[in-house]
Amino acid sequence: MAFNFLKLFSPRSNNDEALTEKTLVVRTSRCPQNHRCPSVASCPFGALSQKGNRAPVIDYSKCTACGKCTRYCMPRALVMERG
Ligand code: SF4
Repeated sequence: MAFNFLKLFSPRSNNDEALTEKTLVVRTSRCPQNHRCPSVASCPFGALSQKGNRAPVIDYSKCTACGKCTRYCMPRALVMERG
């Protein structure tokens, strides 16, 4: 596919916006799953839950993708990724 030079200087379309949006994901392989997750209590929208010491689970109907919880996860198991 040829590089579209003009697109660099054109306003973004809604479709471009959707491609650059970030989504919260849980990298369970990075989570030691041996403690209460501090990120759960950090979420202002109650979008994270945890059963026992398992990796946290995201309720995407509540998550606003603000990224706050990622700052409380030391092993970086909670990360924002481009959709
Ligand atoms: S990204 Fe924001 S809204 Fe989503 S779970 Fe983390 S703190 Fe809550």
